[in-house]
Amino acid sequence: MRRAGRRKSKVEFCKEQARLFPTVDDERIEDTMKTIMEPQKEVPVFEEADVIIVGGGPAGIGAALASARNGAKTILIEKFGALGGMQTHAMSSTFSLIDPAIQGGVITDVINRLRADGGILRDASPRTRQAAFSSTSFDCEVYKAMLDDMMAEAGVKLLYHTSGVGAIKENNALKGIFIECIQGRFVILGKVIVDSTGNADIAWKSGTACMDDGHGKGPKAGRHMGFGCRLYISGVDADKFAKFKKENPEEWAGLYGGKSIVRKAKAEGRYHGYREGLIIHTRKPGIAMIEGFNSPLAQGHHGWMIEDVTAGEIDLRKQVWSAFRLIKENVPGFEHASVEKTGTIPIFRDTHRILGEYILSEEDIYKGRAFDDSIAVSNMGPDIYGPDEEHVYEVVRPHDIPYGCLVSRETDNLLAAGSTISADFYAFAADRYCAPSMCTGQAAGTAAALAAKLNVTPRQLDVKLLQDALRTQGARVSVKDIPKDVLEEYETRFEKNRNIDDV
Ligand SMILES: Cc1cc2nc3c(=O)[nH]c(=O)nc-3n(C[C@H](O)[C@H](O)[C@H](O)COP(=O)(O)OP(=O)(O)OC[C@H]3O[C@@H](n4cnc5c(N)ncnc54)[C@H](O)[C@@H]3O)c2cc1C
Repeated sequence: MRRAGRRKSKVEFCKEQARLFPTVDDERIEDTMKTIMEPQKEVPVFEEADVIIVGGGPAGIGAALASARNGAKTILIEKFGALGGMQTHAMSSTFSLIDPAIQGGVITDVINRLRADGGILRDASPRTRQAAFSSTSFDCEVYKAMLDDMMAEAGVKLLYHTSGVGAIKENNALKGIFIECIQGRFVILGKVIVDSTGNADIAWKSGTACMDDGHGKGPKAGRHMGFGCRLYISGVDADKFAKFKKENPEEWAGLYGGKSIVRKAKAEGRYHGYREGLIIHTRKPGIAMIEGFNSPLAQGHHGWMIEDVTAGEIDLRKQVWSAFRLIKENVPGFEHASVEKTGTIPIFRDTHRILGEYILSEEDIYKGRAFDDSIAVSNMGPDIYGPDEEHVYEVVRPHDIPYGCLVSRETDNLLAAGSTISADFYAFAADRYCAPSMCTGQAAGTAAALAAKLNVTPRQLDVKLLQDALRTQGARVSVKDIPKDVLEEYETRFEKNRNIDDV
């Protein structure tokens, strides 16, 4: 091995690896790294496919099922040993704002199958058009096994414990990806690659322009949403806790409960956490799920810099144990509780997204804008965590997600899905959620299969053909397709919660 070149800063490396849009700040420009040249070597081709899907979260699930159902030879690779992405690895086992008038196709199949398999823990669908927020929760383990079956039934080739670590690029077009797994390093060749990694890992590592913009406004401009996680506690007497909550409504009525317990413990220096209360759900016998943990990211720190991720993970673990002790000591029903599990990964929230042909904007989602090239509808509003302790959720109108948000602006044969689509900070904070992710996944998988079949790039694909294929599969393609009475219900919900002149 030989050393190469002069020492470079970590930020310079990031800029070279993938040009960010806008550019990253240079806070750590002094933090330099030396370099080593990696020797060239022959890499065996593991498999050839029409469509390669990288990442098996809600977006990858939608993409893989849609691609295979549209006749493409489809391979789905996933870094961990189960599908579901953050839904299973970080235990966000929730689909928020499910409404069959807004989402359809693969997501409907998935939820119906979960219901048939006894995996739904709480079905909130009927309230969606009235409530500012409502969620359908499910059992992670039922979900994992069910998804294995659904992939096999659709004919998707699945590789677990396999990471996409780069792409093969010729003249600005992707031809395949490099993978690493326990068996070694290989290549998978494919006609279209769907990056559904949640952080545009393939786009980023192949040198494709990505976006990394944090908060757009005010003193927090440029800062990112913090890391989060969920905690499961076992040995809980849910009835005793419910009785206690009922007897103390002023303390436990809202989303965040136990405010005075948290306040007192903070004042006495016995609590490590940033929020002013605790969110406790009891959906399974003997089990409580605690959420609301948030580790802030300072200016110049990012969800894609590994030292920041490590610091966030350690901080979250401190918060989790601090909250657990507080609950066990102070909340009736938790006297015999123990920590059951935390997620394999934290909630990363905003890292990279591809720079697409179109960048979905805050204004688009508040105004409920329709696009001629729309491929999915979303009813989700920005759900913004941090960068400090605050959490803001805003109601928007049902809005279109155009195909241009899925198509890389500069690299051919690359499509984004889910939380990697091209959107500004506020539109991303909304449409990163599970339901829109599965729907944009379905659109990306269908587009990839059609492009492979017709031997065109995703950019050259006739959008009308894609929209027709999606409608045939039950997907809702545009707000223009949504019945008037449904849109009116959403309009009432919007007016109740938000004044459009604010945008
Ligand atoms: C604790 C928590 C609470 C949440 N609450 C809600 C909620 O109430 N409602 C809601 O709708 N959403 C919620 N979310 C958000 C939601 O889970 C995500 O926005 C959604 O999962 C995004 O889907 P995705 O498929 O784009 O990405 P992800 O779910 O992040 O999936 C990406 C997948 O790609 C894999 N991967 C990454 N890189 C590679 C690689 N290089 N090679 C191979 N595989 C790779 C990952 O392992 C992962 O499985 C929550 C998230 C968390 C963590």
